[in-house]
Amino acid sequence: MPKSNLNTKSPISSLHSIAAKLECDFAKLDIYTIGDLLWYFPWRYDDLSEIKSIQDLGEDEVATVKVIINNVKAYRSPRRKIIVTQINTSDETGKLEAVWFGQKFISQVLKEGDEIYLSGKAQIKTSKTKTMASPDYEKVKDDLNKQIHSARLVPIYHLSGKITQKQLRFLMSRALKIADYHDDPLPVEILNKEKFIWLHEALQEIHFPTEEKKLKKATQRLKFQELFYLQAKYQLAAKDYKQQSSFAVDINNKLLEQNIKSLPFELTNDQRQSLGEILADMTSPHPMNRLVEGDVGSGKTIIALLAGINAMSGDLQTAMMAPTEILAQQHFANTQKIFPKNQLEQLALFTKDLQILGNNKILTKKNIVEAIKNNKIKFIIGTHSLIQDKIDFKKLGLVIIDEQHRFGVKQRQAIKDKSQDKEVPHLLSMTATPIPRTLSLTLYGDLDISLLKQKPAGRQPIKTHLIPDSKRQDGYKFILDKIKQKQQVFVVCPLIDKSDKLGVKSVTQEYNKLNKEIFPDLDIRMLHGKLKVDEKKKIMDDFQNNKFPILVSTSVIEVGVDIPNATVMWIESAERFGLSQLHQFRGRIGRNELESFCLLFTTDQSKLNTTRLKALTETNDGFKLSELDLKLRGAGEIFGTQQTGLMRLKIAKLSDTALIKKAQKWAKEVINNKKYLSQQQLQKLLKSLATKMHLE
Ligand code: ADP
Ligand code: MG
Repeated sequence: MPKSNLNTKSPISSLHSIAAKLECDFAKLDIYTIGDLLWYFPWRYDDLSEIKSIQDLGEDEVATVKVIINNVKAYRSPRRKIIVTQINTSDETGKLEAVWFGQKFISQVLKEGDEIYLSGKAQIKTSKTKTMASPDYEKVKDDLNKQIHSARLVPIYHLSGKITQKQLRFLMSRALKIADYHDDPLPVEILNKEKFIWLHEALQEIHFPTEEKKLKKATQRLKFQELFYLQAKYQLAAKDYKQQSSFAVDINNKLLEQNIKSLPFELTNDQRQSLGEILADMTSPHPMNRLVEGDVGSGKTIIALLAGINAMSGDLQTAMMAPTEILAQQHFANTQKIFPKNQLEQLALFTKDLQILGNNKILTKKNIVEAIKNNKIKFIIGTHSLIQDKIDFKKLGLVIIDEQHRFGVKQRQAIKDKSQDKEVPHLLSMTATPIPRTLSLTLYGDLDISLLKQKPAGRQPIKTHLIPDSKRQDGYKFILDKIKQKQQVFVVCPLIDKSDKLGVKSVTQEYNKLNKEIFPDLDIRMLHGKLKVDEKKKIMDDFQNNKFPILVSTSVIEVGVDIPNATVMWIESAERFGLSQLHQFRGRIGRNELESFCLLFTTDQSKLNTTRLKALTETNDGFKLSELDLKLRGAGEIFGTQQTGLMRLKIAKLSDTALIKKAQKWAKEVINNKKYLSQQQLQKLLKSLATKMHLE
């Protein structure tokens, strides 16, 4: 086939004939085209670069030798009935025998007189003969750089199905020959200033590194490219967003002061300041894009509700989206309390199975959708249903996304696009997972951030203890004592196994144990994802009203749930949860002036686990914990099990702080300074980066 016609969009089968079945295996790795293949990186390398002489091979030593084949034999092994290929080889210093089992084709590939590299583990049979069993082999080429399986840093890829390392390397080396990356997509100013190597060389080096140093350079370059792409995309989106037009919302000071006065507490200074920032943003005819970041229990909800009530007084609608039904219901209940009493029919809860107005009137989905469309309902609180169902808002002024890291980029976008009006809604996101600044930049691009650093006054720090199993009984006594003082207890259990997706099994087990054996006299209830909405609602309402003392639950109570009278968080198998997730659980307690306790149980005595859990007992600072989590377990864990908000990075890591900053700086520079690229060129660049990196 004439290779000149090939480019990165050609199918991989154009590189070499590939069986249909193998193509399926490649598809599983998301590799369809030559370009996809080039952006499929090794996960590690075997260093086979040192070439030894046979004489110097030690027993059990893994090494590479360069030898001549003296003869090739293939025969059927008498006992095992498989083909054995045996070759005798030598170099100037000695003789070496190599054998393979069951690989018929080897005797057709290797011929007497061939000069080859063998890489494998040497065994010393007698003082004269050394052997290697199933070594890697490759014929010696005229240039060391042409070797792809031996005598170099050899790439090792994650495989799928019947694909072998050798095949993948072979296809890769062909793909690199036709890669049309000779024009580098990045502006030459960046390449020069940062001393990045060119893309073509970077790809060559990442797959077949000539030396460690070059490999490092290639990695840096490719990571930068990925991060630059993301940064530029986010920054452009943020800029675009800010240039769109929105309803400018006046600040209704009188109404707000009235509301604030009627609260059972004083707002903290941080709360006042954040609210001020939000309201000021909203007076602009361009959309707000603000993230309220504050540790668990710092009081984010009330700020969002006040912003919504203010928007309502300007005849605008507010949509508030929470990640779980339980949380949506709780926000709804809280909003009912502070909402103007004569307007309760303008407030609604909208979840998958329940649609109800602020005056507790239950509506059909059809009716509620109609009322939202006509702007009769102004404040809508819900879950993902708000985007999934066919809701159109008449005048959507404000979108609030609670626990926003729980939502994917697309979901966050979808809720903003719900307005029939051409005006773009103001966007207020909230997160109780304080994330390191670099991470938030990578994940969310350029957001304005309001920080709630203070906790409301009068809160006592939560005491966290790691309890050894031998003291379990004391733990039970301890909570019984708290319950006698009319306080309440959460017991959280992880999933037992993968099949138990909703945790029904683990919760039921724990529930039975507590209910039958430990506390037969107490009213204990359980909560998991499989219960019906109204059952869940009743349990949460009853727990809120202190009708029973112990709630055994899955991680569904992880985010947001607010039961001020609960003072003990008892966590089973704590090793199964991420640090930040544990911190979230802990945030469910310590929500009033009572002393609160978080008790951790674990059977995992590993050092990593002990370090993590100890950190939790030592600090109540969510920021510190998420940084530590990032370091110990990687970014995914910060967000617990649901990572919808995280994009998949091909090569960069969220811990590549310095590169992220560099990428951010350059993205800003390139976007704002036309000397690098015109608008059009920039768009073209992003598009080509996206397709080349296979990011979209
Ligand atoms: P989070 O920031 O985790 O979302 P919430 O908004 O759920 O926290 O607030 C936690 C609890 O603190 C709620 O019961 C809320 O009513 C209460 N709260 C909020 N602000 C204050 C304050 N300034 N003083 C006392 N309690 C407050
Ligand atoms: Mg919250």
